Amino acid sequence: MPLRTLDSLGDLAGKRVIVRCDLNMPLSDGEITDDGRARASLPTLRALLDQGAKVVVISHLGRPKGEPNPEFSLAPAAERLGQLLEKDVVLAADTVGESAREAVASLEDGELVVLENLRFNPGETSKDDAERRAFAERLAQFGDAFVSDGFGVVHRKQASVYELAQLLPSAAGALVATEVEKLGRVVDNPEQPFTVVLGGSKVSDKLGVISNLLPRVDRLVVGGGMLFTFLAAQGHAVASSLLESEQIEAVRGYLAEAEERGVELLLPADVVVADRFAADAAHEVVPADAIESSSFGAEGIGLDIGPEAERAYAEAIRTSRTVFWNGPMGVFEFPAFASGTAAIAQALTAVDGLSVVGGGDSAAAIRTLGFADDEFGHVSTGGGASLELIEGKRLPGLEVLGW
Ligand code: ADP
Ligand code: MG
Repeated sequence: MPLRTLDSLGDLAGKRVIVRCDLNMPLSDGEITDDGRARASLPTLRALLDQGAKVVVISHLGRPKGEPNPEFSLAPAAERLGQLLEKDVVLAADTVGESAREAVASLEDGELVVLENLRFNPGETSKDDAERRAFAERLAQFGDAFVSDGFGVVHRKQASVYELAQLLPSAAGALVATEVEKLGRVVDNPEQPFTVVLGGSKVSDKLGVISNLLPRVDRLVVGGGMLFTFLAAQGHAVASSLLESEQIEAVRGYLAEAEERGVELLLPADVVVADRFAADAAHEVVPADAIESSSFGAEGIGLDIGPEAERAYAEAIRTSRTVFWNGPMGVFEFPAFASGTAAIAQALTAVDGLSVVGGGDSAAAIRTLGFADDEFGHVSTGGGASLELIEGKRLPGLEVLGW
C-alpha cells in the first residue's frame, strides 16, 4: 500500500495542521551544532504555510524523563526554525497545557507555533497503550489534520507518531515521503553489487542489522568501534580498544554466515592506534592483527581504520552500484582520527549508482568533514529508522499512514 501523502489531505487553508517533526538536534552549551533536521523539515512546513494552514509543530528533544526539564527545551530549535523560515515562531511553554492552548487558539492562517518538548509528558513514550492514547487525544484537540514528518521516530510506537495519526486525518510529510522513496530503492531490488558499510561505536547496537542484512548484501564493510569485536572474534588481541566480549560469539556466527552465503566481509588490514582517547593523543598505524605491537602495547586504543584499509574500502565502495553507509569509521570528532571516515565519505560521492548515508553521527560527520548533502544520493535524517527500513522491517509510524 502506498504511503498517504500531503495532497491526500485536500485543501488545508485555514485548517489547524499538527506536524510531527524531528527537531532532535545535537546541542552544545545550548547552541545547535548541526541543524540538518530543522532544514529537512522546511519543505513540508513551507508548503503548509504557503497554503494558509495554521501550523502546530511538535517534536521531542533528547531524553527528558517524562517531566519538564529546561535543559531539553525546544527553544533553540524554535529559534532556528524562525531564522530558516524568516518568520516569527512562537514557542508554547508546555505541550498540552494552558500555554499551548492559548498559542494554538491565537494562530492566524499562515502562522506557526512550536509546542514544548513532547517528552516532557510521560504519555509520549509510555509502554501503556491507554496512556499513550490519552496523551495523543490531548494533542489531537489542537489539530484538524496531522502530518507525520519526523522520519527519525517513525520506527517508534509513540503517541505523537502512532496514536495521533489514528485520531486525525493523517498523511506523511514531504520528508518522510522522500526518505521512504530513497531508502525503498535500497531495499527493493538494489542494483548490484550492493554494499553496506557499518561503523559507529557499538556492535551491540547493530547486531540485528548485521543478521538481517547478510542475506541481502554482496559486501559488508566493517569499521568504527565495532571492528575490534570482529578482530577479537578472529582471535586477535585488540589491546585497550573498544571491545564487547559478550558479543564475540555472535560475531563469530556472522563471520561463518558471511562465508557460507558468499558475502564479502571486509575488515581493515591496518588501524590507527592511540596511546589514549584524546584529540591530541600520540598515534601510529599498525596491522590490524598485531595491535599490541604498537609502541603503546596493551594500552593502545584503536581509533580509526588505517590507510591501507581506507584504500581497500574506498575501492569496494566505488565499484558498487548501491551503497548504504551507517556509522563513522573512527572517532571523527578528533581530526587526527577522521581520515577513515573522510575516505569512506569521499568514495560514496564517487559511486556510479545510489549512495545513501544514514545515522545521526554519520550525517553530522559528513558535514563536519566539509561534504555537502547533495554530493550523496541521499542523506537520511533517521538513524534507527533508516536501519530498520533497510533491514526490511515494518515500521509502525509508516504503517499507520497506509504503507
Ligand atoms: P550513527 O549515529 O551514525 O548511527 P553511532 O552512534 O553508532 O553512529 O556511532 C558514532 C560514534 O562512534 C562516534 O561518536 C564515533 O566517535 C564513535 N566511534 C567510531 N569509531 C570508534 C572507535 N574506534 N572507538 C570508539 N568510538 C568510535
Ligand atoms: Mg549515533
